[in-house]
Amino acid sequence: MNRTLLIAANWKMNSPPEGAFSKGSPYVPYEGIDVLVFPTFLYLKQSLDAGICTGGQYGHPDSHGAHTGDISIAMLKEIGCTHVLCGHSERRQGHGETNEDVSRQAQAALDLGLHPVICIGETAKQREAGEAESTVHTQLSALPLHSDITIAYEPIWAIGTGNTATPELAQTMHAFIRSLLPDQSREKIRILYGGSMKPENAEELLLKEDIDGGLIGGASLKPDEFATIVSIASSL
Ligand code: PEP
Repeated sequence: MNRTLLIAANWKMNSPPEGAFSKGSPYVPYEGIDVLVFPTFLYLKQSLDAGICTGGQYGHPDSHGAHTGDISIAMLKEIGCTHVLCGHSERRQGHGETNEDVSRQAQAALDLGLHPVICIGETAKQREAGEAESTVHTQLSALPLHSDITIAYEPIWAIGTGNTATPELAQTMHAFIRSLLPDQSREKIRILYGGSMKPENAEELLLKEDIDGGLIGGASLKPDEFATIVSIASSL
């Protein structure tokens, strides 16, 4: 099956890169592929107004209530977002989000018609202990895998470290993840790779059969680098 590549920018807790919302922005839709940006909550509106396909970096599954500091998935929807990131490792680690929390977020997004991009991935310690596959298996088991979702495989040891997974290792994990998906959605669900993707390694990663795009942190904050990755993806 031919899955359209998706290149997603995770700006994390950073201001928008210069020119992101101006004419010539590399973050707007691009021919032949899908481009998506996760800005901080403060910049969602500007991002949407600039014509960028925009998602929240997190959304609370409850529509409203006593959750100081949070924004709900319903509010993301209200402002015009089409996507939401669920279970990024920095939220799992820094905010104690469990597999069940992530699953609730994903289900709430689906119920509201937002598309969840759900992050899974093992730590260096888990990989060294031979637990990489069992870790992602457990993370996946909690998720609504029959639904229209995107999965991002992000080995934690590769995020923001410059230590990219080799294309072979990434492909092996992506194929393993795909093998765990139900028959009906196995060929449809996109599985993105995340972890120090940059212009130098994007092509060899994106050429792998089961890698359907990238979730990009550091390089997405550099408009030139992001533009190069987008252009590589669209040429494949
Ligand atoms: C991320 O934060 O999802 C990520 C993959 O970051 P980086 O590209 O910087 O490793």
